[in-house]
Parts: sequence; structure tokens; C-alpha cells
Amino acid sequence: MTEKDDCYWMQQALLLAQQAAGMDEIPVGAVVVKDNEIIGSGFNQPISLCDPTAHAEIQALRNAANHIGNYRLNSATLYVTLEPCGMCAGAIVHSRIARLVYGATEPKAGVIVSQTQQLDKAYLNHKVLYQGGVCAEECSEIISVFFSRRRAEKKAHS
Ligand SMILES: [Zn+2]
Repeated sequence: MTEKDDCYWMQQALLLAQQAAGMDEIPVGAVVVKDNEIIGSGFNQPISLCDPTAHAEIQALRNAANHIGNYRLNSATLYVTLEPCGMCAGAIVHSRIARLVYGATEPKAGVIVSQTQQLDKAYLNHKVLYQGGVCAEECSEIISVFFSRRRAEKKAHS
């Protein structure tokens, strides 16, 4: 048996990001993988759910915890197309996710390497391994395409 690689799982997260775009939400997607299997998935949908916390990561963590009947996601990996924000980084620690893999960096709101190194703080009682830049071009392109399309639509309507 060969382990599916990070790029394979990131492609699954990208498909979810496409679903977000289809609902006019900023396209970010996430999957939780354990033992070479997806146990949870989600995409960004705060507007449609009227929920400020409905980021892709939170949706995927909730989905995974529900699925396995455990609020701890030990030895699971979270794949997300964009560098997480502060809220999501906090949730990732609480969930005990073992490893975080993200695609594009988010210079404005990202807290893994961009604004701070939140997962490296000494006070944390759980260390999350992390890696960014997986399928980074596709992950950032889906967002820039989304925003340029939205700008074009706004212009067309004004
Ligand atoms: Zn977030």
C-alpha cells in the first residue's frame, strides 16, 4: 500500500474550495485525514450559514469530530488550502490535530508563519507539526480568480 501524498489530499480540499466559490463564499476548503482516509471535510461558508466561525478549518474539524465521536482528533492531519487565521489555529490546537498542511500563505490574516508563529508559542500544551506551500499556486489562484470575477461583476452592475 502506498501512502497518498500531501498533494493528493490538498486536491480534495481544493474541490471543496470550489464548492465555496459556487456559493459566493471566499474559496477555502479543508479535509481531515486519518489512517489514509478522509474523516471530515468542510469549506468556508460564514455568509450562507450566518456564522462568523464557519471557516473551512472549523467546519472540517467539527465534521471529523462528529464522524468519529470524539472531540480529540489525535494523529489526524488537517489539510487546508489557505494559511489559517488566529481563530482556526486555536481550534486546531484544541482539536489535538497532529499535523497541519496548508497551501497558499495568507500575508494579512495568516498566523502560522505570516503575522506570527502561533503554533510555536511556548505556552501551548500541544505541539502541531505544520507545513505550508503544498499546491500553493492552485490554492492562491482559486482565490484570486474569485476576487477578480467578483470585481468584474461589480463593475458590470454599476
Ligand atoms: Zn480561520
